[in-house]
This record gives sequence, C-alpha cells and structure tokens, in this order.
Amino acid sequence: MTAFKELGLSPQIQQAIDELGFEDPTPIQEEAIPELLGGHDVIGQAQTGTGKTAAFGLPLLQYVDPSVDEVQAVVLTPTRELCIQVTQALRAYAEHLDVEIVAVFGGAPIKSQQSQLRSGAHVVVATVGRMMDLMGRRSLVLTAARYVVLDEADEMLDLGFIEDVEKILRMCPSGRQTALFSATMPPPIQRLAESYMYDPTTIRITPKKLTVDAIAQAFVEVPAKEKSARLVELLRTEEPEQAIIFCRTKIGASRLEKTLKDKGLDVKALHGDMSQGSRDGVMIAFKDHRVRLLVATDIAARGLDIEHVTHVINFDVPASSEVYVHRIGRTGRVGRTGRAITFVTPAQRDEIGRIERDVKTTIGEWETPEERLEHAPRPRRRERSEAKPAVVEPVKEAGSDKGAGGESPEPGAAVKLFVNRGERSGLTEEDLRWALREGAVLSDEEIHDVSVLHRFSFVRVSPEVAERTVEFLDGTKLKGKEIRLEIARN
Ligand code: AMP
Repeated sequence: MTAFKELGLSPQIQQAIDELGFEDPTPIQEEAIPELLGGHDVIGQAQTGTGKTAAFGLPLLQYVDPSVDEVQAVVLTPTRELCIQVTQALRAYAEHLDVEIVAVFGGAPIKSQQSQLRSGAHVVVATVGRMMDLMGRRSLVLTAARYVVLDEADEMLDLGFIEDVEKILRMCPSGRQTALFSATMPPPIQRLAESYMYDPTTIRITPKKLTVDAIAQAFVEVPAKEKSARLVELLRTEEPEQAIIFCRTKIGASRLEKTLKDKGLDVKALHGDMSQGSRDGVMIAFKDHRVRLLVATDIAARGLDIEHVTHVINFDVPASSEVYVHRIGRTGRVGRTGRAITFVTPAQRDEIGRIERDVKTTIGEWETPEERLEHAPRPRRRERSEAKPAVVEPVKEAGSDKGAGGESPEPGAAVKLFVNRGERSGLTEEDLRWALREGAVLSDEEIHDVSVLHRFSFVRVSPEVAERTVEFLDGTKLKGKEIRLEIARN
C-alpha cells in the first residue's frame, strides 16, 4: 500500500491530512491522486464512503494558485446536502492554504452568494441549478476554471440535470482537466465522458468489496401493517448508536417519524417536503449525534456522509440492488463494521434473493442477539465430561492467599477477563452470566465474579476454563453488539 507521503501532495496538504487523522490513503485516493496531480482526466467509479472527496479534492487544492484571483476550480454536485458536505471537506483539507472556497446552492439567498463570489473565490462548489443561475447573472465566470469535478454524476442524471451539466462544461476552458465521479456508469454518463473528457483514466472501486462485506446484513419478513410495531421492537433490541431508517416515500417517512416519536423514540425525518432550512438542521443535529434515529427517503439522504452510523434499516425494501448498496453503504464506513436490516412483506420475500444474487452477498433472517450468539461460528464445544472439576470454594483475591502456607498460587485462583462492553452498551450482569453459561458452557461454579462498569466489564472465571471462554465468546454478539474478550492484564 502506498503511504500518503508518497502521493506527491504538498506539505500544507499533508499537514491537514495528518491533523484529520487519515493514516493511509483509501484505494480510490491511492489511484486517483497521482493521476490527477499528473494533470490527467479521471473517471472514478466510486461512491460515498470510499474517500472520493479527498481523492479529487486534494489534487484540486494543490492545483489552485491562491495568488491568482479567479475561479480556478469548480465542483458540481447534484444536491445541496452534498454541496455543503464537499465544501466542508475541502475547507478542512485547505486548512493550511490560502484558498477561498465558496459554496453556491439553491434554497439560500442568491445575494449573499453573489457577494461571496465578488469578494473572491478560488474554488466554487455548486449545485447545478444555482450555478446556471449565477452564470446567467454574470456573477460567476468560468473562463479560468481549469479543474472541473462532476461529483455523483449519475445522481445528476437521475435528477434531470445532465443537459445543464453539459452547458456548464461548455463554458469552461477546453484545456481544462475534468474528473467525473459516479457510483454507476449508465450510457448517458458514458457519452458525457466521451464528449467532454480527454483520454480519461478509469478507476473503479467496486462498492461490494468496500462496503457490503464489512456489513452484517439481515432481513425481517413482516406483514405490511405490523411493520412499525416490529421496527420499534427491533430498535429496542438492537439499540443502535445511530441508525438511518429508509422509507420509499416522503409521506411514508413523515408518518413513520410520527409513529416512532409517539413511542418515545428520539427520531427526526429528512425528506423532500421539508424546507431546506429544516433539512440542514436535521442533518447537522444527526451528524453531531444529537439525534439517534433518522427516517429518510433516498433522495434526501443522497450522498450524505454520515459517520458512525451503526445501523441502516430498510423499512421499505429498496427499489433496486443499486439502491440497496447505496443505502447500506452508509454504515460500515472506512474501517468500521455496521448492520443493515431490510424489512420485506411476505409478498416481497423474493426481493432478498434478488439482492443477494446481484450484490453477491448473503442476507440471513434477522435474529435476536440471543439467537445470534447461539449461531455464531465457534470451535466445537468441548464435552462437559472433559471439563476439569469445577472449583467450588469462593475465590480469593489475587495475592490474599500468598504466604499463608507458602504454597504456590492456589489452583483455584480465578482468571480475570476483560470485556469491551459495559452499561453504556446496555449490558447487565445477567446478560454476561447468560453468555458465559450458554456461549462458553460454563457452570455457575466456574463463573466467579461479573462486574459491569460503564464502558467495559470484567468477569472472573476458573483458570481451566479461561481460554475456552475467550475462544467461544470473543467476537460473538451480545445484545446486538460485538463483544471482545481477552485475558485482563494486571
Ligand atoms: P467520502 O467518500 O469522500 O464521502 O468520505 C467518506 C469518509 O471517509 C469521510 O468521513 C472522510 O473524512 C473519511 N476519509 C476519507 N479519506 C480517508 C482516509 N484516507 N482515511 C480515513 N478516513 C478517510
């Protein structure tokens, strides 16, 4: 793997990357950054969550010359949400550069955007409609825009912007460098690339490898009229830190938001019938972890980069396998694991098989954490008769028996195990005892002590069963959360 330092980025950009805590480039960055720094056109077939923003954004910032007072780079986005998100990312990457980045998007006063442009912009991040508008008013000229990015081009196509995108490209200098990012490459996007790009290098990051594999997927078969009740139940069992719940329609989303609210759940909706202002408010609250559950439609949640989403729930089965991948890609981001749960009515049951085939994945039936633990892969259970005799006497604190008779440590001294979860994850002493009994086949006598703290727990078990306990329970799920066990260090 190439390190960031080998990609040829300037020290100022490298510093920002270090400060953001990015350790290694993602695959799309590793491939796209050198190409773009070398001045080539690039087609990046990658979706949100792959690190594509930095892949085009870092070379963009390196290209821009802050001493030249013109719009030198343009990023076109399909939605206002993505526009804001890309702007925030570029500003973070430009922390140590004198580059002015201005966001222009619909639904906000055009006057203030015009004045921001007048006071100087090196980079403009824009939604298509607002860019057309500003160009029409001569508030934005692109004669010096030699670095052009089309972000989520397939979404722009779906939203009907492709002709405007072409118009904008025609206004940019012909000697420009163009980068096109798109999760899929439908024919109109291919044609756009052929007509408006110069000998592009195509970099394809298969979303299946990058996202879906890291996600535990399950489905729930439930009659339509029982869906909301099942969802409430499932949320109580899964206890997601943060979840996005996808609905197919705006009405469905607001109805579900109300139902969940009535049940006392901490939830907000995000859909196209809301004003832009309230959509932004919801997005920011969710990103700041002030809201735990987000009910969203596909359009409203397009391209959202939301970190730490532990669960994606498809309350309505996605319209296509692409939509499925796109939705569930919001969990299990760079280096993290997540869960995706899809609701189907009995009539929609075949949809699961279709998604499994298209995405080449396995989606099992949803199980309660107890069932999951039961089914978690683990080494063959040792027969009870092989187990050494249990230690019945109460455990002595480490060292407390030393010196009493000068013996070596008593054979019964319990071994302390560390568990990475505690109260905060909803674990109780009873849950851990249950897991020890059922998952690691321990008898009550072999379990000496269980103490659940805020963020983690300790259990003490007889030494002869300590290894087996770790072997059987480490990496399994308890109450929907993966638990890690290890022998505690003193
Ligand atoms: P994107 O695909 O551009 O929406 O990025 C997805 C998330 O990955 C964002 O939260 C980025 O901050 C993060 N990210 C991008 N590049 C890296 C990297 N090299 N290492 C770690 N995180 C990254």
